[in-house]
Amino acid sequence: MYDSIVIGGGIVGSSAAYHLSRKGKRTLLLDQFNLPTTRGSSHGPGRIYRSSYSDQLYAKMSIEAYDHWKQLERETNTNLYQKLGMLVIDKPPFKNLEAVKATNMALGVDFEVLSPEELHKRYPGLLNIPRDHKAILETNAGLIKADKALECLRTQIKKFGGQINDSEKVENIIPGSVVTVKTEKGTYKTKSLIITPGPWICKLMKPLGLNLPVQVVRNTLYFWKEEIPGQTKNYPCFCDYGIDVPEGFTEPCFMYGFPSVEYNGLRKFGIHQGTEVDPDERDITDADKPEEIKFLMNYMKNRYPGYRKNSEPAIIEKCLYSLTPDQDFIIDTLPGYPNISFGCGFSGHGFKMAPVTGRVLGEMALGEKVSYDVSSLSMKRFPGVIASKY
Ligand SMILES: Cc1cc2nc3c(=O)[nH]c(=O)nc-3n(C[C@H](O)[C@H](O)[C@H](O)COP(=O)(O)OP(=O)(O)OC[C@H]3O[C@@H](n4cnc5c(N)ncnc54)[C@H](O)[C@@H]3O)c2cc1C
Repeated sequence: MYDSIVIGGGIVGSSAAYHLSRKGKRTLLLDQFNLPTTRGSSHGPGRIYRSSYSDQLYAKMSIEAYDHWKQLERETNTNLYQKLGMLVIDKPPFKNLEAVKATNMALGVDFEVLSPEELHKRYPGLLNIPRDHKAILETNAGLIKADKALECLRTQIKKFGGQINDSEKVENIIPGSVVTVKTEKGTYKTKSLIITPGPWICKLMKPLGLNLPVQVVRNTLYFWKEEIPGQTKNYPCFCDYGIDVPEGFTEPCFMYGFPSVEYNGLRKFGIHQGTEVDPDERDITDADKPEEIKFLMNYMKNRYPGYRKNSEPAIIEKCLYSLTPDQDFIIDTLPGYPNISFGCGFSGHGFKMAPVTGRVLGEMALGEKVSYDVSSLSMKRFPGVIASKY
């Protein structure tokens, strides 16, 4: 009998298992794939870390998560964080920028306001920002080394006595005060269960009577050659809300980008949206949305100074987003079973604060005092999610 089983060894589930095993709980972490894998949402060289959020709950969780990343660095003697800064760019009437600014001021997050002129002067060749746009720079933001972070969590889980079973797909969950988890290889009993299967959440929760409104989209990352190799490597990341939302996409939609820190001489650009796919058929589906390609090529032509020289991306990579209708996370328990918690719908911004959401999910399933009020992230905000059997 385990104290806790965690289903899904991405960054959220691994963070949950890290905290549980660290507390001395007998913990089993299960994943359907042999990790590391590129099939879920947590792979790749980097993710943006920022505390710049309009919503104070996310900002607070991110601020705390920073200390956890630093602690993991110390525990494993690994460098996981690169401070780069992050720009939030917006167009009039600056709805996103003003909301982020207000939260930053309320929570004491360091930032500077930059005009397009200052931005061009400080970071030549970063982006052609239109003159009526504004930017703020969160100075302490940066990049979390994603693949390395997951590897470090897995090392620590094992060090704290936790068990990791890769290549073991969960096929059935039988809820109860003792939960039964059936996989393709065996049957396990546990006092508490944490479910974090990323894009596979709907497939796993439907038999438990939940119709979660999580849309899985294939997100594409475009790596573009710099005009001068290495030119942007010490530049900030950015989220550019100063765009017109492309046809077929919904608000909030922004372009984001990284300087050339992941692959030498290549800058990363992505649109915070994508094409709906079945997570088991990510690469089999038809071509990307033509509107997305059209939008991207226009954006690069207008904003990217190096475009004249390099009009095509050098590398294209794929990843999966799990989007909720409001792009807020879902963190909840299974109705009638407080010992079963689940987290999903991280909507393309769940990596940075995984050390906190993972811990919260563990606290919920163990019936402990939960360190954040996550009631606003309950699935109950979506009508019709819970089947009538509950
Ligand atoms: C391109 C891209 C860019 C992003 N950029 C950022 C960023 O800059 N900053 C940020 O904070 N966030 C970012 N995100 C979001 C962030 O990466 C995700 O929110 C986060 O990785 C989600 O982690 P997860 O653990 O919930 O899911 P996953 O990483 O998908 O893990 C779920 C795991 O569950 C396993 N699983 C599923 N079903 C089963 C089953 N039945 N049995 C056993 N195992 C199962 C899967 O194999 C998978 O390994 C980005 C995401 C993408 C795709």
